[in-house]
Amino acid sequence: MNLREQFPLLASDPGIHYLDSGASSQVPQAVLDAVHTFETAQRANVHRGVHRLAEAATAAYEGARYEIAAFFSGRRDEIVLTSGTTAAINLVAHSFGDGLKPGDEIVITEIEHHSNIVPWQMLRDRRGLVLKALPVTVEGRIDLSALDGMVTKKTKLIALAHCSNVTGAVADLAKVVAAAKAVGAAVLVDGAQRVPHGPLDIPALGVDFYAFSGHKMYAPHGIGVLWGKRERLEAMPPFLGGGDMIRHVTIEKTTYAPPPTRFEAGTPNISGAIGLGAACRWMSGLDWKAIAQEEMRLTGRVLDGLAKVPGARVVGPLGLQQRIGVVSFALGQAHPHDVAQILDRHGVACRGGHHCAEPLMDRFDLMGTTRASIAPYTEDADIDALLEGVDEARRLLG
Ligand code: PLP
Repeated sequence: MNLREQFPLLASDPGIHYLDSGASSQVPQAVLDAVHTFETAQRANVHRGVHRLAEAATAAYEGARYEIAAFFSGRRDEIVLTSGTTAAINLVAHSFGDGLKPGDEIVITEIEHHSNIVPWQMLRDRRGLVLKALPVTVEGRIDLSALDGMVTKKTKLIALAHCSNVTGAVADLAKVVAAAKAVGAAVLVDGAQRVPHGPLDIPALGVDFYAFSGHKMYAPHGIGVLWGKRERLEAMPPFLGGGDMIRHVTIEKTTYAPPPTRFEAGTPNISGAIGLGAACRWMSGLDWKAIAQEEMRLTGRVLDGLAKVPGARVVGPLGLQQRIGVVSFALGQAHPHDVAQILDRHGVACRGGHHCAEPLMDRFDLMGTTRASIAPYTEDADIDALLEGVDEARRLLG
């Protein structure tokens, strides 16, 4: 399967070895075409005008919401369009979180991206809450054996990543949902790193909120989704106020539109939403069983290759079970930026740094790692270039 040729940036230069899809994926022609059609043939604002362009734009925007909902097995009124994962989590931290009382507890984990830590710290400080964090095992997984001691009758929310953006570990959500249900707590999942790896039935997970970003799943930047269980969204007040999210406004007071509109104040990212709808359509046409096998074969190549490099230390599971193709490693005492720069000389794009996961870096006593992330368009030549680059980095920096 040659997916690479569907991605203009990759097809333009065989010397580009893009292993930074965990930060932002590349975008296929099908998504670029959908955005181009909107901008050149349908461009207008949505939900307001009655002229034909306004109607075409509204139909395209709401059509995209249907496509996103269908891809994730949700209902259209459960899909709140946001600017990304960070915005989706902040929305919940305000709209759900401001209903919490002093002394209520929120459980997060030490594996989280800062976007699933900082909003909860801010909420804790606003509302006088208690914030706890599940530890991480040596293998780089959330230690769910600590759930029993940490989840109490005061727990109102457990917020965790579906897949770690550093270790690649996939969390056992069923265990978390069971622990939350036992005390009546809600579960929020940060799905940013899960969604690029194939279709997902979000309602079947049994969680209350699921947040993700379009730019990691082959769509434009600045668009994302908060999926929320209908009853949860209906019970939540809006976060931002303004146009579009209202039912009726007088100078004295405002009544609000039902979800999802209630949470989408102001002119939305219309072309971004259309791009995300197109990305869902594009993803629906792929053979994800074959892609998953290929992604794991390539991940295995990276893990095997690193195991042979003196001084290389993988931070994350060494096996292929319950993991995605995100591989982080330290190389002796070398600074990850230096490693990433040497890799760049080989045409390899890798992320080096703390990956917005400083508590996890502290857990492993590291200032950062170098991270290679694998996508459906990754090929053997990309892994060859990565391993050659790592070998040179070891010689120069090790
Ligand atoms: N959560 C995880 C696990 C991520 O990897 C990222 C981005 O790297 C985010 C959240 C934040 O996503 P965004 O910057 O698109 O809001």
